Amino acid sequence: MINFNVPPYVETAAEYIQECVKNQKICGDGPYTAKCSRWIEEHTGTAKCLLTTSCTHATEMAALLTGVGEGDEVIMPSYTFVSTANAFVLRGAVPVFVDIRPDTMNIDETKIEAAITDKTKGIVPVHYAGVSCEMDTIMEIAGRHDLWVVEDAAQGVMASYKGKALGSIGDFGCFSFHETKNYSMGEGGALLIRDAAYVEEAEIIREKGTNRSKYFRGQIDKYSWVGRGSSYLPSDMNAAYLYSQLEIAEKINEARLACWRRYYENLSPLRDAGKLELPVVPEGCTHNAHMFYIKLKDLEQREALKAFLYQNGILAVFHYVPLHTAAAGKKYGRFHGEDIYTTKESERLLRLPLYYGLSMENVDYICGRVKEFLGA
Ligand SMILES: *Cc1c(COP(=O)(O)O)cnc(C)c1O
Repeated sequence: MINFNVPPYVETAAEYIQECVKNQKICGDGPYTAKCSRWIEEHTGTAKCLLTTSCTHATEMAALLTGVGEGDEVIMPSYTFVSTANAFVLRGAVPVFVDIRPDTMNIDETKIEAAITDKTKGIVPVHYAGVSCEMDTIMEIAGRHDLWVVEDAAQGVMASYKGKALGSIGDFGCFSFHETKNYSMGEGGALLIRDAAYVEEAEIIREKGTNRSKYFRGQIDKYSWVGRGSSYLPSDMNAAYLYSQLEIAEKINEARLACWRRYYENLSPLRDAGKLELPVVPEGCTHNAHMFYIKLKDLEQREALKAFLYQNGILAVFHYVPLHTAAAGKKYGRFHGEDIYTTKESERLLRLPLYYGLSMENVDYICGRVKEFLGA
């Protein structure tokens, strides 16, 4: 069976984790957490990175930092993971979903402005597949309407928009290091903070509402409850696992891109023959091969190909069920405008296996089965 995903593993991870155990440094904010944070700050140019227990939690932190509250509206795509919306729903805000662009599956930046009301407080672009949203337009709209921007860059580590790292462009950016992402610590994430003025409050939120981070730096001699907060610190053992990958991030990125390109080249003739559609990477976007997807004619053909690949030992998957069609999406959010592409495009999309370590032979085999199914 060719798995859909195999979590990234680099041999140095075992050694680094052992070091945590031997030194009895397994709690949060140890040496590996510091190394990972520094790596992210250096590679993204963001003012501050705080490692978190997940991207979901990083987004919850961002929601707290924006001060969003009851009845406020937040504009986002419906084609995304539940956490993008939940982080704001937890604060009593209303997700206002707008349609996606069919080429990138990202929020359609031309439809954002019409969804803005007196209650709108922010925009949450999701960089699907590590391909950037049209950030110049989004930041310009946000500036004109005095809105904040939280980037859901869960899939965007090592990807950029016009030279700027994803996650570093908006007020806050959220990375995921879940095992299905390009770089993993099992469960984990990071909050990227563009403006250093928010760092102190972010540290307090992450440390259960206390100023413990300041205490650890020796800036105060005891710590206490100073604000709202929760527990968003990952164990240093998880950070050690992640650091082993960050150290060789270029190599992992290149290996993923090589698989992506191989899929693209192999399947281009099918695209040219009008049998399927391939991902689009607009000019100015440098992607990170987070995923390789194809688009079929419709839901029926997508399901038939998925079953055919399974019979041939290949696990292909799809996502997401658009949030506005889900029970909680109907309860907590609303769709602005017409759903022209969100549902239709999500039903035709199929993700093919892509992970660090996937062999070119397997990519060729998978493409061969896709060709066979489509009669090419
Ligand atoms: C994976 C993912 C998340 C959630 O990440 P966790 O680290 O599992 O919380 C959020 N948004 C998007 C777009 C994702 O792909």
